[in-house]
Amino acid sequence: MCDAQAEPLTTEEAQGCIDEFADCGVQGMFLSGGEPLLKKDLLEIISYATDAGIAMFMCTNGILLSEKRTRDLKQAGLKGIYVGVEGINPSAQDRFYGGPGGTLKKKLEGIRESVQAGIHTGIDFCCTADNYTQLPEVISLAQNLGVNTFSLRRFVPVGRGETNRDDLWMDPECYQEVIDSYCVHILHPEKIEFMSLDPLVTARLSEIKPLSFYESPCNIGAWIAMTHSGDLVPCPYLPLSVGNIREESFSDICKNSTVLADLKNKTLLKGRCGTCELRYNCGGCRASAYNVTGDYLAEDPNCWKVAHVEEGQ
Ligand code: SF4
Repeated sequence: MCDAQAEPLTTEEAQGCIDEFADCGVQGMFLSGGEPLLKKDLLEIISYATDAGIAMFMCTNGILLSEKRTRDLKQAGLKGIYVGVEGINPSAQDRFYGGPGGTLKKKLEGIRESVQAGIHTGIDFCCTADNYTQLPEVISLAQNLGVNTFSLRRFVPVGRGETNRDDLWMDPECYQEVIDSYCVHILHPEKIEFMSLDPLVTARLSEIKPLSFYESPCNIGAWIAMTHSGDLVPCPYLPLSVGNIREESFSDICKNSTVLADLKNKTLLKGRCGTCELRYNCGGCRASAYNVTGDYLAEDPNCWKVAHVEEGQ
């Protein structure tokens, strides 16, 4: 597991990591949180990585994106900003973030600043049992704001999500309906590009158009995330440390990790995912499997095919 209390990497340590990443051929990095805009050395890190040839992107709650911040970020070399918007209802958005009121208004202002600055801007929608009915309106909002991309994410019961799991967990049948409606946007995009890293979107696209071949853009096992203190994890939502950059080199960790090798090997999948005809282009969400069962190779608990097996269909 990762240690949330561990000492964060210093700027020099972070720059050392970037050197290692660049030597290993890393081409892109996403900064996320916590909240990256609270990081004092953010601009320094972005420009250092950009100079090293790594394309930099940032996932943020958007609240602190002012005209000056977006201009500075662009100058530092930032290539894209992705803001989470979880509804069009201001009180629901405040409830989701748990902070002071006015979250949605500030987010929208931040998104406008990013678009205005000419930075590639996307909206991420984390779908939960509490907000899924608002998806069509959030999509319309994104189209009106003139962002470049819209991305559907699923709720994964990790971190604070684990505490609120009973209120937020998506029932598989309901999530299938959400994905069905979302696939229409992917297949017939209007104004903006629609995407999703959720393997179940790939699975549904394959079922809707069986003769087409879709491969999940979720590259679990091949990509890697790093925590504030240098723990490397397979995905930000799969908090299983495969090594720490303060103790081992990045390349050694990637080369020697059994967990990363297992995650790339779809023949190891278990349960319904292990026998599914779509396992090589879907493979299920490994983070959901891990956080629900403790086994990163278990079947995907949000999948309707898994639910049907449990019902004996
Ligand atoms: S059973 Fe697993 S591999 Fe098959 S569609 Fe569901 S999540 Fe994807």
